[in-house]
Amino acid sequence: MDNKKKERAGLFGGTFDPVHLGHLRAAEEIREQLSLDMVYFIPAAIPPHKNTTHTTPSGQRLDMLRLAVGDNPRFDICDYELGKSTASYTVETLRHLNGLNPDSDYYFMAGNELFGEIETWKEWRELFRLSNFAVITRPGYPDSNEAKLPLALENDFSYYKEKDGVQFYIDKNSKLIAFSKIRGLEISSTEIRRCVNSGRSIKYLVPASVEEYILRNNIYRTEE
Ligand code: ATP
Repeated sequence: MDNKKKERAGLFGGTFDPVHLGHLRAAEEIREQLSLDMVYFIPAAIPPHKNTTHTTPSGQRLDMLRLAVGDNPRFDICDYELGKSTASYTVETLRHLNGLNPDSDYYFMAGNELFGEIETWKEWRELFRLSNFAVITRPGYPDSNEAKLPLALENDFSYYKEKDGVQFYIDKNSKLIAFSKIRGLEISSTEIRRCVNSGRSIKYLVPASVEEYILRNNIYRTEE
């Protein structure tokens, strides 16, 4: 990361099992809307928010992410969480990144369906000292279109402004929550895994290189 100028960076955490065009399009739209210099994809080692019994080995999820972001100079990967042996908690990742790059202006990106449960995240109040948030209105989730603060944040944040269709809320430390409406693509990793498992095509749902990797390595053939 660039240490000379204050970098505006999006942090996109997820399982990415596998990464799909919905993730990539969402990251690109948010990057443009918030004028971010970079978006860092952060694959989770053991996702604390998920009840998945089977997660594809991190090496393969990382390979697929590398293939997916390789042609976008404004996308990169942070593999910090994969190097840990314990569950990956966002608060620890944010602490780590703030320690490395104290001058970066971070926007942690989360789908509205996840952000709505923010008070269940570890040390959730601390999250807002460490980062701004970009909340994505995820296509296909009926309740996700509302730019509405979760109840737990109503006392700390107040409405600030709207810019280019993005609604901003602000707290006393000037940390922002940006509710971004994206056009997006209604795709999920679950759908991709199911398609592969039942022998259906995933063309145009994931980058061609990722499709090729999945088929070549026989991933998702026995799951679900
Ligand atoms: P799964 O189907 O296994 O639950 P997923 O498709 O939701 O996976 P994740 O890796 O869990 O993918 O998602 C990481 C982040 O990306 C989450 O914040 C999620 O809300 C967001 N996200 C996932 N798919 C989309 C999409 N199509 N458009 C916008 N955001 C998305």
